[in-house]
Amino acid sequence: MKKILVANRGEIALRVMRTARKMGIATVAVYSEVDSNARHVQFADEAVYIGPSPSSESYLKMDKIIEAAKATGADAIHPGYGFLSENAVFAQAVTDAGIIFIGPTPHAIEVMGSKLAAKDAVKQYNIPMVPGVDHSISDPEEAKKVAERVGYPILIKASAGGGGKGMRVVESESELEEQMTRAISEATSAFGDGSVFIEKYIGSPRHIEMQVLADQHGNVIHLFERECSVQRRHQKVIEEAPSSVLTPEIRANMGRDAVMVAKACQYLGAGTVEFLVDENLNYYFLEMNTRLQVEHPVTEMITGIDLVEQQIRIARGERLSIKQEDLKINGHAIELRVYAENPYDNFLPNVGTLHTYRRPTGEHIRVDDGYEEGMAIPIYYDPMIAKLATWGINRTAAIKRMLEAIANYEIEGVVTTLPFGRFVFEHDAFTSGHFDTHFVNKHYTPDLLRQLHREEAHVAAALAAKLNNEEAEKLHIPNVKVSAWRVKR
Ligand code: ADP
Repeated sequence: MKKILVANRGEIALRVMRTARKMGIATVAVYSEVDSNARHVQFADEAVYIGPSPSSESYLKMDKIIEAAKATGADAIHPGYGFLSENAVFAQAVTDAGIIFIGPTPHAIEVMGSKLAAKDAVKQYNIPMVPGVDHSISDPEEAKKVAERVGYPILIKASAGGGGKGMRVVESESELEEQMTRAISEATSAFGDGSVFIEKYIGSPRHIEMQVLADQHGNVIHLFERECSVQRRHQKVIEEAPSSVLTPEIRANMGRDAVMVAKACQYLGAGTVEFLVDENLNYYFLEMNTRLQVEHPVTEMITGIDLVEQQIRIARGERLSIKQEDLKINGHAIELRVYAENPYDNFLPNVGTLHTYRRPTGEHIRVDDGYEEGMAIPIYYDPMIAKLATWGINRTAAIKRMLEAIANYEIEGVVTTLPFGRFVFEHDAFTSGHFDTHFVNKHYTPDLLRQLHREEAHVAAALAAKLNNEEAEKLHIPNVKVSAWRVKR
């Protein structure tokens, strides 16, 4: 493999290219109109323009991307995450063009792309699943029977759903029929596939996923878990590794089951097996993501393994050089997704220009980003600015370092999730480890965040006043006194 085209943009395109360069492999970027001067374009050895800004006219154009690979002589394509990364038709077209697709086979992508097909593929392996049905359901009478069996509340899910979309909670039988009709019509219009199924709604779940690696020689290992329970709109915003609740025994069982899921679809490369974990630490298989995950840095930080390097080695046909028994969890890592979103206004996207952009630096602080000061965040794509990750010898140390990093991250021009991150990392529910996927609903309001800021402003004012006072005393300057009222507040 001499040259890799990265069919993506932003931080992940850069991240993949860095590893390729480290391995002595040349890189090709593709870019849309708005991305002409983007960092991934500047970084790559070569760059090819593939079309107008909307992703449907550029980053999702399979033929343009394959043409670009051919024109530049790239012998492999890395899809990153999002865009075409979980598109079996693309993986097949790349392979048919004689180019290596750095990822699993089209078959594995297809099976795991459908939640129902995935359940079907793993059911013979005795892996715990959320109670419910494993087939598409459209008859309300059948749905009622299933709901009675598993008990309300239930969740109606679209088989082709993704990104937290296509789910409906049903509290009681009286709403079942109506919700089902809606779910089917939504799934049809959003995913072009109206198949829906029913799962028991787990009331207080944690989202914990296992990283797996599989080579072309039948070796499959897991690289422990990531806890991704802090979510908004069913989408992750904070992740950590390891989870603070798994015991070594549950971890080993979950790891074994994740490896089995990978084997069930003849998986290849880096993949993620997602589980829901209930209050009693029972876990249930949710789905498998057949690509590099956004939150992969926390796994890299606790294992010391470069996952992109492993993807490339596996795609080249090499054997995994790491054995399960060689792997150990080293310390603790946390990641905050820094989105251009307004945490004071329902996390609505808030794109604009980064008038000030200074990233925190220091040992064990990792910033994966795709922007520089002065650059604009385009409206066309995901509004993530960066992933801020920190490592510590234990969870407390990682959180402390994260809080320092947030304080040293200067972003002006757009509102971001940085203050929300601080809110979470200082919250008792997070620091004690007692939280689930409802963290935001249960513990967060914009008012609480504002209050935190107000208190901080008071503390800063009091501190400044106190220092001023002490300096004055040291210098024996009388009369420079700050009123006790201010200091106390
Ligand atoms: P998607 O493919 O859209 O990401 P997932 O099946 O991975 O959908 O679920 C996304 C999130 O939705 C989970 O992390 C969890 O917060 C919630 N969720 C999914 N299934 C259930 C369930 N049966 N009970 C409770 N929450 C669920």
